[in-house]
Amino acid sequence: MRVILFGPPGSGKGTQAGLIGKKYRLPTISTGDILRRAVSRGTPLGRQAEALMKQGSLVSDEIVAGLVREAISTKEARRGYVLDGYPRTVPQAEMLERMDGRRSETAIEILVGQEALIKRLAGRRVCSLCQAVTNLEVNPPRLPGLCDSCGGTLEQRSDDRPEVIRERLRVFETQMVPLRDHYRKRKAYGSVSGEGTPAEVFGRMTGLLDPLLEGLDKGRQG
Ligand code: AMP
Repeated sequence: MRVILFGPPGSGKGTQAGLIGKKYRLPTISTGDILRRAVSRGTPLGRQAEALMKQGSLVSDEIVAGLVREAISTKEARRGYVLDGYPRTVPQAEMLERMDGRRSETAIEILVGQEALIKRLAGRRVCSLCQAVTNLEVNPPRLPGLCDSCGGTLEQRSDDRPEVIRERLRVFETQMVPLRDHYRKRKAYGSVSGEGTPAEVFGRMTGLLDPLLEGLDKGRQG
């Protein structure tokens, strides 16, 4: 089973993908995280992606497909996987189907209003050492500017600045309408409200996923 999470930037996809992966013991694959790692390592791919990411635009379908193909062909991904941030467009969804068409899938959209999103993104900080994510509004660090887990310096993602946030939300809305229709037609679409605490949202997620993934969290093949 493949679980596809989509939702606007700041909707909590990364957090929910982590929780789902832990409960059902599935690897989570985040194209945003893979790309950010490539950028910080200065790989050729990272250099290609960097400018686009900085301005909130999408990286090319070919680049992202290559990353996903690699990530889903690992041994860990044999039982299934959780995708965070992919597919983002209908061509990407079609490409995924060509790469791994035999697997059943469910796509879940996380719904959050614009104002809450802007507030969440503007307050988001990421640890420069362990990559833990925190939020100045919702979950402020014990010591200002420092990570609660490892003491590393907290930084703002360059694409979480207000002008870039607006562009990312615009890009998301444009892409989302056809993607929603695509998964609706395939009867593989569900949605949950992303308002409230991560645990509350996760409760809604498992309400949708438990019937589909029954047995997977006990480690059986699925
Ligand atoms: P995210 O962490 O998912 O918000 O992604 C951060 C940035 O990485 C996006 O704004 C895009 O520039 C790039 N990116 C991540 N996933 C994709 C994707 N599936 N297709 C194209 N670009 C992507």
